[in-house]
Amino acid sequence: MGDRYAKELEWSIYNWYYGGDDAPPEAMFGALALGMRNGMKLLAPADMSAEQHFVPVYTGREELKKGAELPVVETELKTLAERVRSWEQCMGIVVNQWDKKLILSQNRLKQLLEYEPKSHITIIKGSVVDIHVGAIVNAANESLLGGGGVDGAIHRAAGNKLLEECRTLGGCKTGDAKITKAYDITWADHIIHTVGPVYSGNESDVELLGSCYRKSLDLAAENGCLSVAFPCISTGVYGYPIEKAAKIALLAVSMWMDAHPQTVIEAYLCCFRDVELEAYKELVKR
Ligand code: ADP
Repeated sequence: MGDRYAKELEWSIYNWYYGGDDAPPEAMFGALALGMRNGMKLLAPADMSAEQHFVPVYTGREELKKGAELPVVETELKTLAERVRSWEQCMGIVVNQWDKKLILSQNRLKQLLEYEPKSHITIIKGSVVDIHVGAIVNAANESLLGGGGVDGAIHRAAGNKLLEECRTLGGCKTGDAKITKAYDITWADHIIHTVGPVYSGNESDVELLGSCYRKSLDLAAENGCLSVAFPCISTGVYGYPIEKAAKIALLAVSMWMDAHPQTVIEAYLCCFRDVELEAYKELVKR
């Protein structure tokens, strides 16, 4: 359907399921609210009626085709939500009912219609390679020619074309970031390659690691990404202690968001290892 907001919504629902039982739902509501403000169109039944318990809508043809197909029309979610709100018998809307579905109650629709979309951070268990987003961030090395850890996993998933594009970039300095296409990773639009510091214990580590997050968000915003997925940069082979790195990441991302109030972006902080999730949980609990 080519509606980037609908795609973003579909992605956010996917990520919520991927995140498992404890996954927070805010990213989906953010995507819905952002879509509502920007004329997002979903596929809705051509013959909707006030008697339906739930009105089924789909983020695209692919989702519709997963079950019994019915005649649909592209409809703005905002218009649809306002109509459903006026139907007392109707309980709400169900998005993508055939697969990974999201149910929006009347009360939720009311909240969404009033909600001002904002940037948001989701801490999620899993690999950046699996998350569906505008940009996946790669913890690369200065050569940008691939390596171990997440870098290797991203290059394997994206295919050889990624390496070809990376060869044209002339490397990347520590603390800086460069953007490429995502190639065979069809569930993301871009890959942002950033180079974290090798942990030395010096003051400069903090600045360089924070800079990786800031520069990556700058590139994501410049390229119109509505969501971005970060690994825990430098905390693998580069040896940055996760408790310190998690704090720097969370601060850098939230300060960037505060400094860019006009840009609405969902940042997923992906925790590939359990210790990463524990470190973030410890930080947000206080
Ligand atoms: P660095 O060299 O920056 O330390 P690593 O790739 O070793 O890079 O680790 C960075 C982050 O990537 C960590 O959060 C780590 O858990 C995660 N990671 C490591 N291997 C993989 C993988 N195969 N898939 C996804 N994430 C990974």
